[in-house]
Amino acid sequence: MTPEQIETLAWDKQQGLLPVIVQDADNQRVLMLGYMDRAALAATLETRRVTFYSRSKQRLWMKGESSGDVLDLVSLEADCDADTLLVQARPAGPTCHLGRTSCFPSAPGGFLPELDALVAQRERERPEGSYSTRLFADGTRRIAQKVGEEGVETALAAVAQDDAALLGEAADLAFHLLVLLRSRGLGWSDVEAVLRERHAAAAG
Ligand code: AMP
Ligand code: ZN
Ligand code: ZN
Ligand code: ZN
Repeated sequence: MTPEQIETLAWDKQQGLLPVIVQDADNQRVLMLGYMDRAALAATLETRRVTFYSRSKQRLWMKGESSGDVLDLVSLEADCDADTLLVQARPAGPTCHLGRTSCFPSAPGGFLPELDALVAQRERERPEGSYSTRLFADGTRRIAQKVGEEGVETALAAVAQDDAALLGEAADLAFHLLVLLRSRGLGWSDVEAVLRERHAAAAG
């Protein structure tokens, strides 16, 4: 956001403060709502750490300044009439001071990105006794075979009109697909990027 863009924001609408919605950049979960004044926005853009104006403390407040649970800025944009900001961030820990991931206990977020992050962690750390560790040790060919099997099982369950089995097999397929992608150094976000590209091409 350029200094010119910052000046076009609707600062005068709410006494120099804009509400800021913060989303997890990796799974789109809504994490919290805060307020920024011009100085907080400038500090956020400069440090790449999300910084608010605290109405209770009446000063700049970098989220995580005492807890260490900072929010690393990924992107920031204004809404249609420039009176609200949307921040995409990577949280270093729980964002809510009650120790929860989000200040909104039931805030929905995609589970597939969360599972993909877990699979990536398993691939890095290879904890003993984990099924994913065994799959990664077996290698891409074996994992690919599992994806093939689960694909066939999913198809058979659908044809047999067994919805419970279909859901179970589809879950198996999705999990093994994440492991297969990761064994090739790829992640779910790479698949999403292809889907988005096709969607944009179809819409345009
Ligand atoms: P922190 O910024 O995480 O170091 O927390 C410092 C203080 O800010 C906490 O003790 C709370 O009073 C407050 N606080 C932290 N996180 C939030 C949040 N997500 N929403 C509102 N207040 C918060
Ligand atoms: Zn608006
Ligand atoms: Zn909270
Ligand atoms: Zn299966």
